[in-house]
Formats: sequence, C-alpha cells, structure tokens
Amino acid sequence: MADRVIVAGGGASGLVAAIFAAENGARVTVIEHKDRVGKKILMTGNGRCNLTNMSDVRGKYYSSDADSLNRIYDTLVRFDAEKTRDFFRRLGLYTKEKRDGGVYPVSEQAAIVLDVLRSACDRLGVRIRTDCEVTAVKPRRTGGTVSVVQYIRADHEQNKREKKSTALQHKHKEDMLEYDRLILATGGKAAAVSGSDGSGYQLAKGLGHSIIEPLPALVQLKCEGTFFRALSGVRAQCRIRLLIDGRETASEEGELQLTDYGISGIPVFQMSRLASRAIYEGRRCEAGIDFLPYIENAENQIFDKSMDRNIRDFAHKTVEEFLSGLVHKKVAAVVCRQNGVASGATVGHTGVRKIVECIRMLADFKVKITAPNSFENAQVCCGGVPLGEVDENFMSRRHSNVYIIGELLDCDGICGGYNLQWAWATGAIAGADAALRRDRT
Ligand SMILES: Cc1cc2nc3c(=O)[nH]c(=O)nc-3n(C[C@H](O)[C@H](O)[C@H](O)COP(=O)(O)OP(=O)(O)OC[C@H]3O[C@@H](n4cnc5c(N)ncnc54)[C@H](O)[C@@H]3O)c2cc1C
Repeated sequence: MADRVIVAGGGASGLVAAIFAAENGARVTVIEHKDRVGKKILMTGNGRCNLTNMSDVRGKYYSSDADSLNRIYDTLVRFDAEKTRDFFRRLGLYTKEKRDGGVYPVSEQAAIVLDVLRSACDRLGVRIRTDCEVTAVKPRRTGGTVSVVQYIRADHEQNKREKKSTALQHKHKEDMLEYDRLILATGGKAAAVSGSDGSGYQLAKGLGHSIIEPLPALVQLKCEGTFFRALSGVRAQCRIRLLIDGRETASEEGELQLTDYGISGIPVFQMSRLASRAIYEGRRCEAGIDFLPYIENAENQIFDKSMDRNIRDFAHKTVEEFLSGLVHKKVAAVVCRQNGVASGATVGHTGVRKIVECIRMLADFKVKITAPNSFENAQVCCGGVPLGEVDENFMSRRHSNVYIIGELLDCDGICGGYNLQWAWATGAIAGADAALRRDRT
C-alpha cells in the first residue's frame, strides 16, 4: 500500500481523489495554490452546481483520441452518476434529478458540495496546504519528490495596526515534499480566476507527457458582422448548425443569446469545442441559425399559398413589422437591412420575392465564426494530456506512481453535469488505486 499520497490541486477531482486515497489507508496531502480549495466548484451551475447527469454518458464526451475515449467509457462505468450520488449521500448531501437528467444538491447550493468534501477531508485527516504551488516533480522508481513554493501572505490585521499600505505581501518559501504516489489534479486553464492557470500542463510535460493544445470549450463564439451590436441582448429559440469548411458538423436546438460580439447560450456552448478546434486548425467555421425552428420544414412552407396570401393581406405594413410577427424585432430589422429593404418600406411596395428572400434568410442566417471567447470565459478546456498516456486507473504510462486526472486530461464533456462527473469519477478511481496498488517493478 502507498503511504504518502500527494494531490496537486484541490479542485473537484483532487478533493475526491484525496478522500478515496485516505479512505483506503493513505496519508494524504493536498497542495493548493489558491488561498482556499474548490473555488471553481462554487462557480458551477450558476452557484447551484449541476454535479452529474443520470443520462447515458456515451457520446457526451469529446477527445482527440476516439479509441482511448471508448476504452475510458468502460472505465467510467466503475464510477457512474449513481455512484456519484451515493458518494455524496454518504457524505450527508442529498441530491435531486431534474427533467433533463441533471443532478443538483437538494438545496441547489454549490457551497454545500464544497462543504461536504472539505469536511470529509478533515474527518479523514487529509492535510490541506493552501497558498502552496507545485512547481516541479522529480519522480523516482518507487516514488519521488515535488517542489512546492509556499506563498506566505502578510497578516492583514498586523498590516492595519502597523498602517502598512500593502495588504497582501507575498513572501516565497521553497519546500520539497516526498511522495509514494502523486496525483496531478491541477485542472486546465479555463476560468483561471479559480486557480486553474495551466501550470499543470507544464508539470505533465516535465514528466515526458505530450499535450494536445488546450483550447477554450463550453464558451461563447465571436462572429463577424457589425450587425451584432444591433442584435445584442436578443434571446431566441433557434436551431443552429455548425458548418466546418461548408460541411454540417453539429446541430443543436435551444435558446440562442446574441451579444455584441457574437453568439452564446447552451446550444452554442455545446458545439463550441468543435468550432474552437476547427478555427485553431485554420478551417472555415460558420453557424447557420434557423430563427424559425417552430415552422416545420420552413424552406417549403414559406412558399405555401397561405404565406403568399398573408403577404398580400399585409401589403400596408412595413416589412419589419411583418417579419416581427415571426421573429424578434431586432432580428427582423437586421434581416431587412441585409436584404436591402429600406427602413419603412411596405410589404406591398417591396413585393413577395424580396420578402421570401428575407424569410429564407431567417431560416438559415449564416454568420462567420472568427474565434472562441477567452479561456477566462470558458467553462472547460478541450485538449490536455492524451488519454492514451494513462492507464484504466488514470496512472501515467510514463511514470508509475503518478496519476493524471480531471480536466488536465484530453477529455471534455458537454453541458449538463458531465464535466464534474468526469472530475469525480477520475478522482475516485485514481485516488483508490493510488492508495491500494502495490509497487510495480
Ligand atoms: C463558470 C463555470 C461553471 C461550471 N459549471 C459546471 C456545472 O454546473 N457542471 C459541470 O459538470 N461542470 C461545470 N463546470 C466545469 C467544472 O467546474 C470543471 O470541469 C471541474 O471543476 C474540473 O475539475 P478539476 O479538478 O479537473 O479542475 P479544477 O476544478 O479547475 O481544480 C484544479 C485545482 O488545482 C489548483 N492548481 C492548479 N495548478 C496548481 C499548482 N501548480 N499547484 C497547486 N495547485 C494548483 C487550482 O487552484 C484548482 O483549485 C463549470 C466551470 C465553470 C468555469
């Protein structure tokens, strides 16, 4: 049995890994470079924490290595959503399932999720060292050492008493800790304000791992077009197709949010990692927005007789007014402008042909996607350590005694609780294995 387990990173995956390692008899230390563990957990689900999802996980994750991902699906069965709910129930947290399969704490408070994890760590004697950063790893055959930089914060009260102006003076102290097993749980580089600043990629690289370029995922998409400023604030039920080099690659339906720089909302988040990667690879990326998803087979229907009659019946209305019966006014105005229909032009004056063109555009409004929004705005990263470089217990194939878990790996889920499920599952499996696996020779 491994005695000393060090967990680098006190986020979702790291805290669960620490609990499972300690429950299986290891002496565990968590090294966290922020002043508190689990900051990102508090941000999840808009503060409500969508902690897992009861739907089948197959098809809910992406990785650049499809074969390894298939293998990993078999592993994930060992700690599925039901096991996650059992685990939290065991820690005293009851959960509820919503209609889409998403699972939340009954109180819908992310803070309680972190509370129960922290209190389990306390109960099991897990040592948590905050304000400490793992800066380097030196593995040996039977274990190794990690270099840790400790940030010693100046005492705020003392500063006040002594009337010092700087409230936060960092002093650095180097430390070297020995481990039998090390678990890298440093996350990716999404939402760095919570602590995941990408330093884990350097640690993994230093151990000989390759890194698939991390890119923002579950993120808004920036688009070309000055008209976006006029559309900012519009929310609309839409069907959106993602076209990469002209080929439809994904399609989603849901509430689209238009911003002054592009598109947002759950359907956009779901396809954002594909767009992110395609843009990074220099491919042409477009979204085809159908603002009329409630009109079945819109392409045919717009030419039907009743619509034709409609157009004639409303000959006195402006085209913008007429189209506002179908879509948000701001969208109607932009589509008119894009089709050269002057503001105030009437239906009668504009003619059926032009109006049909406008309606066609509403059913397939093409925008060029230029970039994903920043890592800071992303919920997760795609990319990271290739899945093929860890075994079925998430132990590094480069170094026995080192595990790599959570978002640091090249695997990302869609919205709906799948990313936290990945963090809990990889943490639980690796934590138990790190404590129990006999030394390899
Ligand atoms: C706004 C937002 C909302 C989200 N909502 C949901 C949701 O509702 N459901 C869902 O499933 N997913 C959600 N996610 C995604 C989910 O939070 C992440 O997938 C998950 O937290 C990843 O867990 P992790 O342990 O791999 O990394 P993290 O949670 O990022 O934890 C990594 C930890 O390591 C620490 N660290 C990093 N480098 C070092 C170092 N060198 N030394 C010491 N410590 C280090 C960091 O400070 C951090 O505490 C959301 C994400 C965001 C940003």
